[in-house]
Amino acid sequence: MSIRAYIGLGANLGDAAGTVQAAMQGLATLPTTRLIATSSLYRSAPVGYLEQPDFINAVAVINTDLTPYTLLDGLLALEELFGRQRSFRNAPRTLDMDLLLYGDAVMHDKRLTVPHPRMRDRSFVLVPLHEIAADLHLPDGSVLAELVASCDRTGLHRL
Ligand code: ADP
Ligand code: MG
Repeated sequence: MSIRAYIGLGANLGDAAGTVQAAMQGLATLPTTRLIATSSLYRSAPVGYLEQPDFINAVAVINTDLTPYTLLDGLLALEELFGRQRSFRNAPRTLDMDLLLYGDAVMHDKRLTVPHPRMRDRSFVLVPLHEIAADLHLPDGSVLAELVASCDRTGLHRL
């Protein structure tokens, strides 16, 4: 039975836009997984540690038969595959892939928290998510469109 899952992506080193695009297409290579749609790319100002380049963000939606844990393993493998600067050995990871939503599942354990704990506060997640899932409700019933309407979009630009 196929589950609809939403994946958030971010990168801010090297060819960040190319990395995010390639990683979204890479989702289709995971077993039993179909890529349904991808958002536009967005540029966002860094939060927290400010002395780093802007991020490129996007959200993708898939249908998958993978369990949440196997899907997370797949995301970590795609981070490894697409997220290294090619220029030198042992370069830092340049790609982050987060499991935002896995159907209506709510889970919280050592490996995995779903829905992703910080997605509600992040316009660079909410806005691209809304672009590809305008009618979405979160598992607790909150309405994505309302979260988007009230979020702070400072520093976020659609490319
Ligand atoms: P962050 O994404 O919070 O900036 P990391 O990507 O370094 O930081 O964190 C990766 C770890 O977070 C993974 O090893 C994974 O076990 C854990 N994790 C917990 N919940 C999630 C989730 N919903 N999506 C992705 N990783 C998660
Ligand atoms: Mg992550």
